[in-house]
Amino acid sequence: VELFDAVPQAPEDPLFGLMAAYRKDTHEKKVDLGIGAYRDNNAKPWVLPVVKKADKILRDDPDLNHEYLPIAGLPEFTLAAQKLILGPDSPAIKEGRATSLQTISGTGAVHLGGLFLSRFLPKPTPAIYLSNPTWANHNQIFTNIGMPIKSYPYFSAKTKMLDLDGLLSTLKAAPEKSIVLLHACAHNPTGVDPTQDQWKQIAEVCRERSLFPFFDCAYQGFASGDLATDNWAIRYFVEQGLELIIAQSFAKNFGLYGERAGAFHFVAAPGSKAQDVTKRVASQLAVLQRSEISNPPAYGARIASIVLNDKALFAEWEEDLRTMSGRIIEMRKSLKAELDKLDTPGNWDHITSQIGMFSFTGISEAQVLAIREKWHVYMTKNGRISMAGLNTSNVKYVAEALDDVVR
Ligand code: PLP
Repeated sequence: VELFDAVPQAPEDPLFGLMAAYRKDTHEKKVDLGIGAYRDNNAKPWVLPVVKKADKILRDDPDLNHEYLPIAGLPEFTLAAQKLILGPDSPAIKEGRATSLQTISGTGAVHLGGLFLSRFLPKPTPAIYLSNPTWANHNQIFTNIGMPIKSYPYFSAKTKMLDLDGLLSTLKAAPEKSIVLLHACAHNPTGVDPTQDQWKQIAEVCRERSLFPFFDCAYQGFASGDLATDNWAIRYFVEQGLELIIAQSFAKNFGLYGERAGAFHFVAAPGSKAQDVTKRVASQLAVLQRSEISNPPAYGARIASIVLNDKALFAEWEEDLRTMSGRIIEMRKSLKAELDKLDTPGNWDHITSQIGMFSFTGISEAQVLAIREKWHVYMTKNGRISMAGLNTSNVKYVAEALDDVVR
């Protein structure tokens, strides 16, 4: 029988489609500002020097084999990942109320989180609130799992800043036990993060309204260049005694994109039941993991683990993070300066006030298409640019292109 004759054609993934179009373009001045992957000043992928070192250590190990990892992953990796995300002195770790599993990078952690929520939340499954806008894959992942999706205002197109009032009033009106997905830092796609004071207000609403925080942390170390600063929000929410889950990616901060190293963390609220709850949750997560991937891939986690568990290598990694975040900050300044020089219409302060890998330029979809057609500058349709695609050789050209299409 032919069961699949009626399967409709799915649209191409917008981001990966954009990459393909860029690759096909033969113009010598073409610029890729689409994909969220770090590039060095020569527009080349950058293997972190500390990752090269760890790779050598790994390859020189005579006992290295290719056995399966445990279902929850490499223990020395997950424990180090947990300390990194919660802070080494986290009360949740000390009190034994955090449990962690290695996942297929951040995407796998978001997916496992969604699966866990939809499986164990009381039915009907409450909605998950996503920021408007958010990483496009969030919608897709939670839709596939069958979770109802709602959104909260996040970005004000007018001020190009956080729409705090919209965010808070929407969450205040959300039904109890709703899930709130929060970007821990370097919000994708807007590059706008809440301030510490704003985070406090968000945590307060979560507590007041019994909302459940789900942090997605894909850029720790990429926003400010400092690991602890970038994770302030997560640590604050944990200190406030909130129960929460976290998806953690090592794709960007280790440059391990294709190796799919990540982790999922559950943190129970403090109290006499906490350890017991954590144990039971861990057992169920293991069942979900087993049915999805059996056990996670080893290479990326081994690399990250070598670095995270060695003081000297850890310090070198922090240096590499400052190299990446520092170059991005420099590019923000250069782009802004070039636009100022050209007296480009509009206010471009957001280029330097936004943080992390992305900026929301605020240009329209028509302008995005025009800049691609005429100038061979590639960005996503919502006007998001990856700052890592800029370098000292192309920043002036990109400023000229932006200037041209907004006039
Ligand atoms: N979450 C956000 C907000 C992201 O931007 C990304 C990557 O772009 C991810 C999660 C997951 O990435 P990966 O699966 O490569 O770790």
